[in-house]
Amino acid sequence: MEIIHVSAECYPVAKAGGLGDIVGALPKYQNELGHVAKVVMPMYKTKFLLDNVWDVVHKGRTNIGDYWFDYTIIKEQTNKLGFDLYLVDINGLLDREKVYGYDDDTERFTAFQVAVVDWIAVWAHHPDVIHVHDHHTGLIPFIIKHCYKYQHLHKIPTVLTIHNAQYQGTMGWDRSFLLPPWDSWKWGMLDWKNNINPLASGIKCAWKVTTVSMSYLDELRQSANGLEALFEYERGKCMGILNGIDTEVWDPQKDTYLQEHFSVETVTEGKANSKRRLCETFDLDFNKPLIVFIGRLVGEKGADILPAAISDSYYYIGRKMNFLILGSGFPDVETQLASLQKLAQKDYSVYIGYNESLSHLMYAGADFLLMPSRVEPCGLNQMYAMRYGTIPMVRRTGGLKDTVIDYGEKNGYGIVYNWASVGDITHGIWRAVDLFEDKEKIMEIREKMMRLDFSWQHSVQQYLNLYEGLLPEKEAVPEAESKPDKK
Ligand code: ADP
Repeated sequence: MEIIHVSAECYPVAKAGGLGDIVGALPKYQNELGHVAKVVMPMYKTKFLLDNVWDVVHKGRTNIGDYWFDYTIIKEQTNKLGFDLYLVDINGLLDREKVYGYDDDTERFTAFQVAVVDWIAVWAHHPDVIHVHDHHTGLIPFIIKHCYKYQHLHKIPTVLTIHNAQYQGTMGWDRSFLLPPWDSWKWGMLDWKNNINPLASGIKCAWKVTTVSMSYLDELRQSANGLEALFEYERGKCMGILNGIDTEVWDPQKDTYLQEHFSVETVTEGKANSKRRLCETFDLDFNKPLIVFIGRLVGEKGADILPAAISDSYYYIGRKMNFLILGSGFPDVETQLASLQKLAQKDYSVYIGYNESLSHLMYAGADFLLMPSRVEPCGLNQMYAMRYGTIPMVRRTGGLKDTVIDYGEKNGYGIVYNWASVGDITHGIWRAVDLFEDKEKIMEIREKMMRLDFSWQHSVQQYLNLYEGLLPEKEAVPEAESKPDKK
């Protein structure tokens, strides 16, 4: 099968969160099973772009409304990521340093999607599946089905994977001119609550929709930032497929960001070395448990209640643990977390910003990873943590619910609580401090977690089965042709 993944992010080219990790890994594993999976993404001004050599494979010209633009498709020469990587260069719109966060993101990602379809439209053959990811590429199923210029592509099966339904790319109907001329009878395929909603459109028009965990799909029917009824209505075409992790990148035995490597056999010493490094850098106490948080400092991740939970823990439990926070997001949360630093007694530190290398060291050196998420479509951090022998402390929601079992239950290994509330988090922290005293139990849990299999193997097969169900039935070969006469 030839599968084209279209995405706004792909690790290590450009990553803002989990979407990048998934699109950087899934195609690689699909290729390993003998398929041809390719990735198409915007050409941002990234280090990866500058450090690699590119071939120009196509030049085209198209438009969003009155704005005509030239676009160029370039391909990385060596296939070093394990799949063909294509970047779409649209001068002035995509060639910027950040992935998101510009006032004209609507125009940027609409132009990107139109350019991708415009390019595929001139191919001599059709790919077997176009697999789009999140709202930034959610209009592609509509464009293929209902824009006159691209009608000849309408038989290509499309799959939409929802990594995060909170963000939907909503735009007013006054922007409808950005799309290539389309069948106006089909306006309902773009509309949700009187706006054009690319994520809703993707759910309506894609042949199949997947979410990145089973529990997240269930939860979306109750809470989906306004799309609950749509998920209920379209439940027949939706399925949950749990993300895997890239076990080559995230491997404590050869992680290129780590200076000391370790395996299940050497985990105690290996983690201690990384913890020591962290404690020296951030002025923390090596002998106390190290509880870390890594992620976007937004409400979805429960980051807004972290400052109160940390203060309450110090107050009620005592200064028996270290906290180290890595993230960026809401300025208010950043300020509150930074101001806690003033009261630190060698037991608290924060790094505001994005730092891939530090995140790896934290997964390796921490004793516990805190994830008090309100919403967690899958969550990768807890899986990375477990692979590095770090005990996850998670709220029972979405993918966290599907991947972590409380250590008090049969075969359990994590700390699980029900609510993203200060009380529940503080209680979880108290349990962590208590557990840390029991070195034998910690060792047993670390070993158990490090032996868990979160690789892509199972999920990749589920995606392939899904695509196969969308392919046209193979035409039966006439009897005479299939059995040549051997006379
Ligand atoms: P999200 O909802 O942000 O996509 P995921 O759990 O799916 O959450 O993925 C988060 C990914 O982003 C992980 O690889 C995590 O290590 C990484 N990450 C998040 N914030 C930071 C940061 N500030 N610095 C480094 N890595 C980060």
